[in-house]
Amino acid sequence: AIEATGLSHAFGDVRVLEDVSLSVAPGEIVALVGPNGSGKSTLLRFLAKVRAPDEGTVTIGEAGETRVGYLPQQPGFRSGFSAEDTLQFYAQFVDDEIDVPDILDRVGLSGAANRRVEALSGGMTRLLGLGRALVGDPDALVLDEPASGLDPGMVERLFGIVSDLAADGTAIILSSHNLGPVERTADRVVVLDDGRFVADAPPREIVESAGAADLQTAFGTLV
Ligand code: ATP
Ligand code: MG
Repeated sequence: AIEATGLSHAFGDVRVLEDVSLSVAPGEIVALVGPNGSGKSTLLRFLAKVRAPDEGTVTIGEAGETRVGYLPQQPGFRSGFSAEDTLQFYAQFVDDEIDVPDILDRVGLSGAANRRVEALSGGMTRLLGLGRALVGDPDALVLDEPASGLDPGMVERLFGIVSDLAADGTAIILSSHNLGPVERTADRVVVLDDGRFVADAPPREIVESAGAADLQTAFGTLV
């Protein structure tokens, strides 16, 4: 589970998050949506514990020792290494037994296992980032725009992977501008606008209660 309470943050004078609280239960998929600059990536960094907010607390798992897998919006990798060696590098810190070829297969990168990371396309780089987040079967996943730049087949595969992991009990929060897959996959949609939560409801309720203009704001485009 992911538990966040009273998160507030400012960059200089600019307040980016305003008293945000959120919980993601084991097996639950929460979609975080909102316009560009609304604070999604900032919030997700706090949830993944790669940064700490000015105020508020984040707890992952019961005892706090549970690992979280994180896909940043702009995943970066050290150049000069193959996709497989890159995942192997991360895997060695977690467990020698991790099946890296299997992870590459799950994220659709088997055919690119030996390609150097700097030679991967933008979408493939994001898939490798997803693979990195999956290393060690974390109990919580924080995915920042995982579907961005993926072709439609890979978007479907991505949301399939997410659904399977949730069915196995992983707590998942992801940001996305893809209304269709979010509607089909997410248990809850949380709408962030200017650093505040303006809605938190099942996708059907969000779609039915929000007008087209609101959806346009939340998702950017209507899918
Ligand atoms: P997008 O949909 O474009 O990814 P977002 O909802 O993820 O947007 P954030 O990246 O969280 O938005 O940014 C929220 C606000 O915080 C923006 O106004 C942004 O300019 C500001 N911001 C983010 N990171 C920093 C930083 N390191 N320093 C200063 N301002 C920042
Ligand atoms: Mg972002």
